[in-house]
Amino acid sequence: MTSPKFPVTDDHIHIDPVNGRGLDAARDFLRAGGTHMFLVSKPSWSLGVSPSTGTDYRQVFDETIRVAGLVAELGLVVYPVLGVHPAEISRLSERISLADAVAVMKGGLDCAAGYVLEGKAVALKSGRPHYDAGPEVLSASNDVLFHALEKAAECRCALQVHAETGPCMDIADMANKAGVPVDRVVKHYASPGTPLHPSFIAREETIPDLVRERHPLTMESDYMDENSRPGAVIGPKSVPRYTNQLLAAGRITVEDCFFIHAETVEHVYGVPVNL
Ligand SMILES: [Zn+2]
Repeated sequence: MTSPKFPVTDDHIHIDPVNGRGLDAARDFLRAGGTHMFLVSKPSWSLGVSPSTGTDYRQVFDETIRVAGLVAELGLVVYPVLGVHPAEISRLSERISLADAVAVMKGGLDCAAGYVLEGKAVALKSGRPHYDAGPEVLSASNDVLFHALEKAAECRCALQVHAETGPCMDIADMANKAGVPVDRVVKHYASPGTPLHPSFIAREETIPDLVRERHPLTMESDYMDENSRPGAVIGPKSVPRYTNQLLAAGRITVEDCFFIHAETVEHVYGVPVNL
């Protein structure tokens, strides 16, 4: 394999050796030209964990850290991102009250923040249901999301946000109130026009235009690595593949690749991206 000429960073990917292809998927990413990945913790239920306190998320986070170590041995740089999936609120409130669900999720975020402070993870993850969950659940979710923003402010780290499609203007206001720079609040699965930092799925058509204007953006696959859901998302090669397609078509330059995959990533997450 020839050494890569520029870094390629997947801003949001999951690798799951238990329920998915695991290291084979990471090898696919590497072979396609990937160099760095933000490895995001999976929802607790996908690992068979039913949390009843915040510290129960340790099982989920320790698994993410373990997998990060395995993937790093392949020669990739792996930055773990830990947090609580916004859809956990619906799962949890099937068996405990909404107020208790909020407390468990906030506790999970406190637990994740501990990993960031210890240097085991680089960022947090939170959000609110991307589906219509009703006003009560939405307001409870915003409460959890605000807590996540406060934790990100405390840890001086970035926060990935999983939320409904659209600009999420109010989340920018929440970030200001919590004291987190808006450009460190990453809208996962972004659509153009959000005031948050956009992480685009690696098929977004507007990327070349945005990059030409030096609009900060990153790219992700949101590959879930679940054998039970093949084709639910695009594959682990998609970020390097799309980057190389855009490059080959002359729609972006090598300099643009450094802007997307290194400079912007360093700015948003405060981590180094070197070849
Ligand atoms: Zn994801």
